[in-house]
Amino acid sequence: MKFVSTRGGVEPVSFQKAVSTGLAPDGGLFVPEKLPDLATEISSWEGLSYPELCIRLFSHFATDTDSAELRETVENAYASFDDPETAPLRRLGEGLSVLELFHGPTLAFKDFALQWLGELYEKQIARDSRSIAVLGATSGDTGAAAIHGLLGKEGVSIFILYPDGRVSPLQERQMTCTEAENVFPLAIQGSFDDAQKSLKEVFGDQDFRAECGLSAVNSINLARILAQCAYYIYAALKIPAERREKIRFVVPTGNFGNVLAGWMAYRMGMPASGFVVATNQNDILHRFFSTGRYEVGDVRPSLAPSMDIQVASNFERFLYYRVDGDSSKVSSWMKEFASSGRVELPAPEGWGFTSTATDDGEIEGIIRSVHQEFDYVVDPHTACGFSWDRREGEETIILSTAHPAKFPETIEKATGLVVTHPSLEELKAKKIVKFPIEATSTNIQDFIRSHLPS
Ligand SMILES: *Cc1c(COP(=O)(O)O)cnc(C)c1O
Repeated sequence: MKFVSTRGGVEPVSFQKAVSTGLAPDGGLFVPEKLPDLATEISSWEGLSYPELCIRLFSHFATDTDSAELRETVENAYASFDDPETAPLRRLGEGLSVLELFHGPTLAFKDFALQWLGELYEKQIARDSRSIAVLGATSGDTGAAAIHGLLGKEGVSIFILYPDGRVSPLQERQMTCTEAENVFPLAIQGSFDDAQKSLKEVFGDQDFRAECGLSAVNSINLARILAQCAYYIYAALKIPAERREKIRFVVPTGNFGNVLAGWMAYRMGMPASGFVVATNQNDILHRFFSTGRYEVGDVRPSLAPSMDIQVASNFERFLYYRVDGDSSKVSSWMKEFASSGRVELPAPEGWGFTSTATDDGEIEGIIRSVHQEFDYVVDPHTACGFSWDRREGEETIILSTAHPAKFPETIEKATGLVVTHPSLEELKAKKIVKFPIEATSTNIQDFIRSHLPS
């Protein structure tokens, strides 16, 4: 299996190359040259453990990786999850379940991808005998998850840009209280999109990338998307076979990475009837799926900060499939969008997506009513998924992207409950170590150069 860029400007590469490169050199994102048809195989995966299912799925893509090595990366990645199911599906009522994706070390779904990516990087460093610098930008959870995927690993330094004061205090502690010497949280003034913009500039400098062995950890990395396909399939197989075609996945969405993975699994043959793109008040994707117009607005900080995004980087992968791999069309749209902040795209009908947007005024009320109705506490991101009006006869699976204990103020206001988690309590006793920096690409490059692995 080879991987190509959504913008068509690079020769097809192997899995390992696509993972280690992150963003393609032409500015595009790597996608599998062809999505395999796994419909028959998937139905035979019922009853497999979570890691076993991952191994079956990933082996179709990581065709340049030895199978014992692949197995080791997957088993290590999910060993630290605190639920035996890894991604347990909780039944709340008739036709309604929640897929809990918060049992990893940082209590958010990004651990699924980043625990595995950390293992892949470790193998790569050993293979090439060359250290690397990993750079990412975060609106909260990616940074924490990336740091915990790479913490203490030999031969890697990790740099995470985040908007100072705009991630939750506990998210900040997960990034800054690690006591690990290879971790550098960079606090910038501005929004997540500002952080992502500087990051793109740094990655645009090919010489610098080569000099530092720079690698990306954003939701653009191909391995993240693949890792996320697995839990959709795992969840679908927990639903009785005769009802699987009726599954609608509701996905709290920011960068479009999570829901895109589900949709790719669907294109590979996973049974489902559709996907709901559930945004918060930063609703660029909701506007797109209801009107066809893709247009940036201002980022409005919300109670669900990991979805405070106006430019959904993974959306480009969807567009690529939307036009059957016509990368020149994708390039010209992305250029137009980059220069004018808007672009008219073909109507999104018939692609299995619907959407909702939930503003801050609604989130607490949803958390309260879910608690009253189901005796179940959801975090503010997951709450956005509950604003979807469920349809009679369907199997709704709402993805729960974070543990409620990460957002204690909102939960307490909504329900009166004080929700805690032992791993978060431990952090409160530790010292915060962060590096305030002005987010210009020169500053960031200088900082990285002087903190490379020894
Ligand atoms: C990152 C994140 C999201 C959004 O995921 P995308 O892949 O960016 O759409 C939703 N909820 C939580 C808790 C997150 O950390």
